[in-house]
Amino acid sequence: MGKYNLTNCDLEPIHVPGHIQSHGFLIATSDDLMIVCCSENIEHFIQIQPRALLNEPLYSLDAYIKLNDQSLKQVSFREVFFSKPAYGSNTTNPYLVFIGGQRYTLLVSTTGPYWLFEFEPELSHLSHPIELQMEHAMTSLLATDQLTDLLQITTEHIREIIQYDRVMVYKFHSDGHGEVMAESKTDQLDSWHGFHYPASDIPQQARELYKKNLTRLIADVHSSPSLLATTTAGNATSVDLTNSALRAVSPIHIQYLKNMGVASSFSISILDQGELWGLVTCHNYTPRFINFRQRNAAKLVGQMLSTAVSFRQQEEDRKIAGSLHAASEGMVRQLSRNIPINNALINEEFTLLDAIPSSGAAVVYNKDIHIVGKVPGMDFLQTFVGWLARNHLSPVFHTDCLSDHLPEAAEAEIAATASGVLACRISSYHPEYLIWFRNERLSSINWAGKPDKPNEVSENGLLTISPRQSFEVWRQEVYRTSAPWEKAEIQAASKLTHEVKFALGRKASEIRLLHDKLQEAYTELDTFSYTVSHDLKNPLTTIKSYSQLLMIRFEIDPKLKQVAGRINESAEKMQLMIEEILHYSRMTQDKIVSKTVDMKRLLGDLRDDFLVSHNRNNLRIEVYDAPPVEGDKMMMLQIFSNLLGNAVKYSSKTKNALVTVNGTIADTGITYAIADNGIGISAADERLIFNLFSRSKDAEDFEGSGVGLAIVKRMVQKHHGKIWVESKLGKGSTFFVHFPHPAQQRADVVYA
Ligand code: ADP
Repeated sequence: MGKYNLTNCDLEPIHVPGHIQSHGFLIATSDDLMIVCCSENIEHFIQIQPRALLNEPLYSLDAYIKLNDQSLKQVSFREVFFSKPAYGSNTTNPYLVFIGGQRYTLLVSTTGPYWLFEFEPELSHLSHPIELQMEHAMTSLLATDQLTDLLQITTEHIREIIQYDRVMVYKFHSDGHGEVMAESKTDQLDSWHGFHYPASDIPQQARELYKKNLTRLIADVHSSPSLLATTTAGNATSVDLTNSALRAVSPIHIQYLKNMGVASSFSISILDQGELWGLVTCHNYTPRFINFRQRNAAKLVGQMLSTAVSFRQQEEDRKIAGSLHAASEGMVRQLSRNIPINNALINEEFTLLDAIPSSGAAVVYNKDIHIVGKVPGMDFLQTFVGWLARNHLSPVFHTDCLSDHLPEAAEAEIAATASGVLACRISSYHPEYLIWFRNERLSSINWAGKPDKPNEVSENGLLTISPRQSFEVWRQEVYRTSAPWEKAEIQAASKLTHEVKFALGRKASEIRLLHDKLQEAYTELDTFSYTVSHDLKNPLTTIKSYSQLLMIRFEIDPKLKQVAGRINESAEKMQLMIEEILHYSRMTQDKIVSKTVDMKRLLGDLRDDFLVSHNRNNLRIEVYDAPPVEGDKMMMLQIFSNLLGNAVKYSSKTKNALVTVNGTIADTGITYAIADNGIGISAADERLIFNLFSRSKDAEDFEGSGVGLAIVKRMVQKHHGKIWVESKLGKGSTFFVHFPHPAQQRADVVYA
C-alpha cells in the first residue's frame, strides 16, 4: 500500500491485483488450454496442489470436475464463447459443473492472451426462488415514470430480491462526488439518504472498471484473498482480472468497508449513454454470498433502471433545449439584421440572458466589453478575460465555482455575481467571448464524514492513503458556488456561438466588399478629376487669350481695362488650380519605378538650387546624414523639393533662417526629418494641412495653393510610408517622412 501515495492513489492498478476472493477458484490457460495460472486456494475445492497443475492441460482436471457429464476436453470453449456476444450477455455462461458432488458455476471469459475459468459455488446465502420477485420488480418499474420514485422502487425491489441489509442508489455529480438518492434498509440501521461522499472514495480506475464489469460482489471483507500461482514465464499481476467475477478487492477499499462496519457489498453500475451515472450499492453487515444467477437477476433490474435514467436525462435535455429554442431563434434573427453584433446580443428584444438562464452576461468584442444583467466590475472582467485567454484555449470553459480556478473570484462581491461562468470563444485570433454569469447559490451538504482523505506517513516517509475512518455526519455550508450548467445549456451556448461566428464572418466579407467598392469609386473619381481638369484647360486658355485681347482694346477706358484684368487674373488662378489637380490625380496613374536613390546627392543638389534661387543672406540649409532610400527617384525629388521648399518659404521672414535635413536608419525603416525655424503650425492645423487645398491661417501672407503636401502624402503612401509633422506656432516645424525597408513594406498595408 505504501507505493500509492496521495498524488498517485488513482494509479493503483486494481484490475491486476494478483489475488482473487477466496469463495471460488480461478484457472487461467493459454490459448491451447494449457494451465498458466491457478489460484492457490484450489486445494480447498479439489485435492490437488496448485503448482502441480501449472503447465498441465485443462482437461487434466477431468477427474475432478464434471461438466454436464461431458469432459472438459470435449467442450470447444472457443466455439461456444466466440459464437456469442461479449462476456456478460453470453448465454453460455454460467456452465453448471459438479465438483465432489456439489453444484458449481463455471464462468468462462477471456483476458489478453488467456482464457479465464472461474468456479464459484452455486450454494448461496439466498435460498428462496427469485423469479416471482423479479416479475414484481419489472412490473412496478415499468409503471413508474418519476425519477425519484423509480430510484426508490429500484432499491426496494433489489433488496427484496437479494436480501441485503441496505440497498442505495448512489449518483455521481459532475465533480465526481456521490450522493445517496434513494435507500431501502432494515429498520435498525440509520438512514444515509441524502448523504454525500467525496469523489476520492471511489478512485478513477475503479469507476472505469464499473463501466466494463457491471456487477461487483465482495462476499466477505474479512476473508483472506488467495494468491495466483503462475508458471515461471508468467507473473501473478500480469493476469488482467477486469472481466473476472472473483477479482480481489483493493486493500484500501476493504479497509474502507471495514471502517463502515460493512462485511459484504454488492454493486450494480447505472450507465447513461456509456457513462457511469451512478451505482446501486448493497451492503450487508454479515458476510453474504449470492450466486451468479441471483447477481444477474439484480443486474437486470439495474439495467432497466439505466435505460429509464438515460431516457429521463434525454427528456430533460430536450426540455431545456426546447425552452431555450425560442430565444435562440430570436437571437439568430437579430444577428442577421444589419446592426452591430454587440447590439444584436444585448440590446434587442432577446438578449444573452434569454438564451441561457443566467444572472448576467457579457460580449467581449473589438477590445470592448458590453454587458447585460448583473456582472462583476470592469476591472475584474478584464482580469478574467486575460486569464481565460492565457489559460483556456478550448472553445468552451464552464464552472460552477470560479474561485476554484481563479483566486481573485473568491472575493465576496465577485462571488455574488460570478460564482458560475460559461464562456464561449467567438474568435480564433482575438480574445473575444460570449460570457454568461451565474450568481452565488448558498446551500449546505451533509457529508458522510469529513471529506478530506486522512493520510499517514509510512515508513519510507511518503504520505499514504488510508481510507476514511469516520462516517459521522459533517455539515458543510457551500459558498461561492452557483447552480450547475446543464449539458443542454452548454450545447445551446455552443450553438449560439456558432451563429455569432457566422454573423461575424458575414460582416467581415460585407466590409471587404464595401472596401473594394470604395477603392473602385476612388479610382473613378481620380479619372474623373483628371479628365475634367485636362478638358478644362483648353476653354480656359481661350478665356485668358480673349481677356488679354480685351485688355489691349480697352486701353483707353481704364474701368473696362480693370474689369478685363480681373477676368485675366481669375482665369490665371483657375489655370493654376487645374494644373495642380491634374498633377495630383496623375499620381494615382503613375507607377513606381523603385531603385536605390542616392539621397546625399539628391539633397545636396536641392540645397544648392534653393540657395541660388533664394539668394538670401539669412538662409542656411544643412544636410546631415542622408542614407539612401529604395524608391522612385522622380517622386523622391518631388517629395523633398516640396518639403524643403516649404521649409525655406515659411522661414523666409525669420531673422536667421535655418533649415536642416537628417535621415536615420532603424529596424523598421528610414526616417527623414526636415526642420525649420519658421512660422510653425497650430495644433489644430497640423492634421488638416495634408488635405488638398488646405492652408493654415498663418500662411496667408505666403504664396501657395495648398496642394503640395497632399501630393507629398500620396507619394509617400505609394512607397508604403508615413508622413507627419511636429510643430510649434511661431517657433518652427519638423516634417517626418518614414520609408519602411522593402521587406516590411507589405506589412504596412492594412488588410480589411
Ligand atoms: P502651400 O502651397 O500652401 O505651401 P502645402 O500643401 O505645401 O501648400 O502646405 C499646406 C499648408 O501647410 C501651408 O499652406 C502651410 O499652412 C502649412 N505648411 C506647410 N509647410 C510648412 C512649414 N514648413 N512651416 C509652416 N507651415 C507649413
